[in-house]
Amino acid sequence: MLHHECGVFGIIGDPDAARLTYLGLHALQHRGQDGAGIVARNAGVLAEHRGEGLVHDVFDDAALRGLPGDTAIGHVRYGTLGGPGLENVQPFLARWRHGQLAICHNGTLTNAGPLRDELEERGAIFTRTSDTEVLLHLVAGSDQKTLINRLIEALTRVQGAWCVLVLAGDTLVAARDPHGFRPLVLGRRGSAWIVASESCAIEFVQGTVVREIEPGEMAILDEDGAQSLRPFPRKPKKACVFEAIYFARPDSTVFGTDVYAARVRLGQSLARRFPARADVVVPVPDSGTPAALGFSQGSGLPLGMGLLRSHYIGRTFIEPTQRIRDFGVRLKLQPNRSVVAGKRVVVVDDSIVRGTTAQKLVRMLRGAGATEVHLRIASPPMTGPCHYGIDTPERTDLLAHRMDLQRMRQFLDADSLAYLDMDDVLEAMGGEGPRFCDACFTGDYPVEPQQRRRDVQVPLFRGSSEG
Ligand code: AMP
Repeated sequence: MLHHECGVFGIIGDPDAARLTYLGLHALQHRGQDGAGIVARNAGVLAEHRGEGLVHDVFDDAALRGLPGDTAIGHVRYGTLGGPGLENVQPFLARWRHGQLAICHNGTLTNAGPLRDELEERGAIFTRTSDTEVLLHLVAGSDQKTLINRLIEALTRVQGAWCVLVLAGDTLVAARDPHGFRPLVLGRRGSAWIVASESCAIEFVQGTVVREIEPGEMAILDEDGAQSLRPFPRKPKKACVFEAIYFARPDSTVFGTDVYAARVRLGQSLARRFPARADVVVPVPDSGTPAALGFSQGSGLPLGMGLLRSHYIGRTFIEPTQRIRDFGVRLKLQPNRSVVAGKRVVVVDDSIVRGTTAQKLVRMLRGAGATEVHLRIASPPMTGPCHYGIDTPERTDLLAHRMDLQRMRQFLDADSLAYLDMDDVLEAMGGEGPRFCDACFTGDYPVEPQQRRRDVQVPLFRGSSEG
């Protein structure tokens, strides 16, 4: 199955649509660094520009000048298992019997495999490994009369996590799956409408956030205004708690939670529940910094930048192999002797996944003279993979699946190790537990993923009456 963390941005009704989308994608760059693309509409015609790499590398002035018009959608891609390749960079622009259609998607469809089997049996040809192409085929194959009804029919068939933007005719459609796994926010900029994965992107382009697109909602934006439909069967809300813990930008509000404030509260809660005899609190930048600040506030211990982050290196997860990932940690984080030498250090990070980062940085801090290293993690032990769009490895690669707390502490060579539990997290998020998906911590999966049928291998020379 293909994993998409990804970010989407769309705007309708602004003469600078593509440029604003480009800026919006910059604000969503943390959601995907593998590729970026924009499709813009001018005089009824859709034009695209897509490329591999960062937003800054993919677009230059000439590319943006080639995307005139007052409507655009854009995407930043974080694809892992599907492999790199321009063909998987979204938005996908397709030509079909009703003209042109562009689509982009954030999330993972849990039944994309079986749907792909079914579509291929009916003759569909796939040119990409991305789930999103399944959606295109479902829309194109629908018997419904209008685009909106075709889209509704297609989206009713897919399961799992999806925030989808579609540009066709003179309409921009934004839809969010009924569980609401991934965030999607509606905003305004003057008379233009904006939709974006996170509120920070709307604010970045000097727009104002109106509200979330609700789970199961489809917003239809065109020159007549915004229309809201609830065409999908209602399901329990399952917002991804890991967006608030790690993935979203700290200046965003996701699922009604102020991300930065929640992360600070997680750190305060760690300090209260798992104090450490130490001299200095050291954040693992950038994602561990708000929780470390909270730990410092809660414990009264000073905060010190004992780990420095090189901003010229992307997130360590981008490198596909363990060998290169190990190297990536050392490239990304350097110990700061001035803060840690001769000190008892409490290191605060948002999460441990494989344990690579934590293990390396304990070693680095000791190498730089720290006398003790205490690890505090602002989330529960991650014991299960995500099937809904966060890039987590197989269960067997997750440190907390392989070891209990004591063994993890030894493996990481920390003087002490403590994690929050799910109740602490929910308290920091504002208390309403059931609205979150916490499957990676609890194993409670709201939607089971479905596999593709195994290809049946037919021996080449077996006698067959079919000839
Ligand atoms: P690991 O080294 O595998 O234990 O990864 C943990 C580190 O990666 C922590 O510092 C997290 O901030 C960060 N992290 C956690 N989840 C993810 C993810 N899905 N993608 C990229 N980085 C992550």
